[in-house]
Amino acid sequence: MKAIQMSGPGGSEVLKYNNVQDPVPGIGEVLIQLKAIGVNYMDIYIRSGVYPIPSLPLIPGSEGAGEVLEVGDDVSGFKQGDLVAYTGVPQSYAEKIVCPAWKLIKIPTGLDVNTAAAVMLQGITAQYLCKSTYPLGSGDTCLIHASAGGVGLLLTQMAKSLGATVIGTVSTEEKGNIARSAGADYIINYKTHDFQKEVESISDGKGIQVVYDSVGLDTFDKSINCLATRGYMVLYGQSSGLVPPISPMLLNSKSLFLTRPTLTSYIDNRAELENRAGEVLNAVNDGTLKVRIHNKLPLADAAIAHDQLEGRLTTGKLLLVP
Ligand code: NDP
Repeated sequence: MKAIQMSGPGGSEVLKYNNVQDPVPGIGEVLIQLKAIGVNYMDIYIRSGVYPIPSLPLIPGSEGAGEVLEVGDDVSGFKQGDLVAYTGVPQSYAEKIVCPAWKLIKIPTGLDVNTAAAVMLQGITAQYLCKSTYPLGSGDTCLIHASAGGVGLLLTQMAKSLGATVIGTVSTEEKGNIARSAGADYIINYKTHDFQKEVESISDGKGIQVVYDSVGLDTFDKSINCLATRGYMVLYGQSSGLVPPISPMLLNSKSLFLTRPTLTSYIDNRAELENRAGEVLNAVNDGTLKVRIHNKLPLADAAIAHDQLEGRLTTGKLLLVP
């Protein structure tokens, strides 16, 4: 089969479109013909070496959707022809993948595979951030950085549906309009404006309950300063670079909470995965959660997809099509 492979960390040029051996399902595993593959910022951290590379050569990617081709021994609940989606399974930039059956979710009738692939990783992330990490309520104001991004647009909609006031940051006017149409109450261009000052003004100097920060290095310090007493700093990514070590005393003056959550910890068992994925896929299927697919590119063009995502040129989801 064809797959994207990298033999070491580097720029997008390390992503090569190669012939590789077809995977074979083992016990408890399912072979899937992929129809859509999700591109995520995490793929860039792995490609560039920000996150450790498990082994080389590596097929990147961890999200996709497609059709079941074959089931291994001891698999129940799935059969040939089922349409399924998953997140958290390595080696996804390929025509076929072998997945542990417990990580697969059947795509609800009526939902197309592209949309299902687009929402597994970013949608479940948005869901756990606003329902579990800091459960938002109607009296809360949250700051969502990169609010026109893949996670950002989904988190903005979910935060609004929970009754929170949403302040979103973006780098361009066009992104601001897109985040506003997802429900953001206030938009700040953090390239041209000091977002901390804007948040102080919006909150009448009181500060806000939670910051969902995926930008990291460029925003961390000011994000902390935006918080009200006992506020939550939810650092869930670092698209601008890693945040250096900090002293716990930074949290002391306002009794703040700091967490660095990761999706794996919120879907590490079947029941939790089913609950979160079910909620997200059903919301998309009934139209209450809108998924914006920025672009679909051929699998061979994975490097172009990475350049677009890293270059801040996307709003919403990027998909690769084998
Ligand atoms: P996005 O679609 O949000 O793309 C990243 C966005 O970050 C850009 O569009 C850009 O928006 C903003 N950004 C700010 N500074 C930079 C910079 N220096 N370089 C590049 N982009 C920058 O990506 P995803 O939705 O895939 O992921 C968003 C974040 O969420 C990532 O940090 C990712 O790692 C994290 N994440 C964390 C998870 C977890 O469980 N912890 C799970 C999923 C994602 P703008 O131009 O408007 O500033």
